[in-house]
Amino acid sequence: MADDVALPLSTIPPESFMTRELESLAQALFYQFREMSFDGTGISWETYGAGETQAMQVIERLAKQHGFETHWDPAQILIVRLQGSEPGMTAVATGSHLDSVPQGGNYDGAAGVIGGLIALLAAKDRGGPRRPMEMLVLRGEESAWFGGPCYFGSRAMFGQLTGADLASQHRDNGLSLAEQMRACGVDLTRIEAQDVIRNPDELHSWLEIHIEPGPVLIARDKPVGLVTGIRGNVRHRRVVCRGQAAHSGAVPRWLRHDAVLAMAELLMRMDEHWRVLLEWGEDLVVTSGIVETNPNEHAVSRVPGEVSFALEYRSQDAKTLGSFGNLVRSECEQISVKRGVTF
Ligand SMILES: [Zn+2]
Repeated sequence: MADDVALPLSTIPPESFMTRELESLAQALFYQFREMSFDGTGISWETYGAGETQAMQVIERLAKQHGFETHWDPAQILIVRLQGSEPGMTAVATGSHLDSVPQGGNYDGAAGVIGGLIALLAAKDRGGPRRPMEMLVLRGEESAWFGGPCYFGSRAMFGQLTGADLASQHRDNGLSLAEQMRACGVDLTRIEAQDVIRNPDELHSWLEIHIEPGPVLIARDKPVGLVTGIRGNVRHRRVVCRGQAAHSGAVPRWLRHDAVLAMAELLMRMDEHWRVLLEWGEDLVVTSGIVETNPNEHAVSRVPGEVSFALEYRSQDAKTLGSFGNLVRSECEQISVKRGVTF
């Protein structure tokens, strides 16, 4: 956190940009974003929300001050453009999102936006690029606000937002995504018609700085890494294991069909498969983030007859996901036979 940095933006001269000044500018922006949004725990910038818009306006004002062209597209994505000496060339694009997960970190998304703006300023200061550069301030990328679906801003831009996306409900205020987008000035007729606002062919490439949402760089004491791939996932949102509820004092082990023990055995077996697959050099992560016995019938003195759980696995290799899925199914079959349960 940039607690010790309190530079007001007005102290940064717009004319000349040396590295040190660019650094100060980045720090001042991170500081300002934090001041605008810190709630004591983290920052909460809702998908297509007011805080997100205000942060985008800060970036827009600064970009304009420094002589960049800016415009808001019909999905209310902000585009900052630096013309190249060959304006007919397709643009190199950069940027990131400015919404956050609830009580998220100050750098998620913002690092890519602020870093992108700095890159444009540096290129301008060095006499301008040959190929045009664009910095896109995306919004509505996080899945936390509307119950799962995500990448709303970029999918709207590419004409891929569906009716189901637009109908999804906000987690707190109950508004639909469509209502929330309309309140931010989005041209919903074009989004509903799945108009392609931006043809990907107009962009030469996309480069993005992003904060690592994990601990590896710190654990390895590295300042930066190059992302070579992003894990795809398979999600079983709710698996139900059914056995047989029974009295914990009266039913001996050999007559039990304990749903929780069956689930635990499955998870331990999958954990062991995961370990072996890593030994073989596969890329894989496995998570069971939700586990619930049925509150209408569970009790300390009752053998659990039912448990539901989530199972998610991710890999950079679709083949690994397929093989792991086969292992899940075959282990479920074996445990079902052994313990007299169903999955
Ligand atoms: Zn992010």
